[in-house]
Amino acid sequence: AAMSSGDLEKLQVLGHGNGGTVYKVRHKRTDDVYALKVVHGDSDPTLRRQVFREMEILRRTDSPHVVRCHGIFEKPSGDIAILLEYMNLGTLDSLLKSSHGTFSEPKLADVARQVLNGLNYLHGHKIIHRDLKPSNLLVNDKMEVKIADFGVSKIMCRTLDACNSYVGTCAYMSPERFDPDTYGGNYNGYAGDIWSLGLTLLELYLGHFPFLPPGQRPDWATLMCAICFGEPPSLPESASEVFRSFIQCCLQKESGQRWTVAQLLTHPFIRTTDPR
Ligand code: ADP
Ligand code: MG
Repeated sequence: AAMSSGDLEKLQVLGHGNGGTVYKVRHKRTDDVYALKVVHGDSDPTLRRQVFREMEILRRTDSPHVVRCHGIFEKPSGDIAILLEYMNLGTLDSLLKSSHGTFSEPKLADVARQVLNGLNYLHGHKIIHRDLKPSNLLVNDKMEVKIADFGVSKIMCRTLDACNSYVGTCAYMSPERFDPDTYGGNYNGYAGDIWSLGLTLLELYLGHFPFLPPGQRPDWATLMCAICFGEPPSLPESASEVFRSFIQCCLQKESGQRWTVAQLLTHPFIRTTDPR
């Protein structure tokens, strides 16, 4: 049966994002628990655009490694709510903070494999996440890791409906204007997600953001210089050879040198531990 937002009871706040709030909710009749991401109708246009983008992406994704969307509600007031599968252990970021420790290599290999499977699905559907980080990776007690928060993601695929919105006639447009990913030569937006994955795994191993000493608050100018002009961060000697190699493959500064999802899935770091 179709669900309406009136069937849901708010239990608690799970998180605040940029303008939206995520609640833990219970479906009154079935007792099922979900997460509900609510963005108010009076929020600014940029934010609303982000929600619509997220809705568009969640509507078309169907992967065990991407958080599932169970419904979208739009109220006359303009409020928008997205009903998501509830991930009861929260984010990798909160897990890292609450455990006061770091993740072991076998654990990280498992995280890496799951996120890569999610990225494989997304990139295969021409979706670039663009905001991969520990606080956008959700975990449940089955130790499943799922990619969430598609607010700034991009769909590369331009289909005929997008074509209709172009000024001018489509017939004379070059291939890369329709599909920059396939025809755009060295244009590679997907590689950005790989860099973010590398930094995420490195942070989970170190227990702090790689470019900054523990506890230091990010100063954007320093950070940008470090990222653009410094050597890419790497694992300490204490890490295994195979993990260090994996991180190195992700953190190539030149995007063309960075491994793709398909290549990384064949890396020994992913392949030597038991697949789930
Ligand atoms: P934002 O775009 O505002 O960052 P997110 O989708 O990342 O929105 O959600 C914000 C926070 O809400 C997350 O960091 C997480 O703590 C919590 N959250 C979001 N979705 C879920 C979910 N499906 N299950 C459990 N917690 C969630
Ligand atoms: Mg987020």
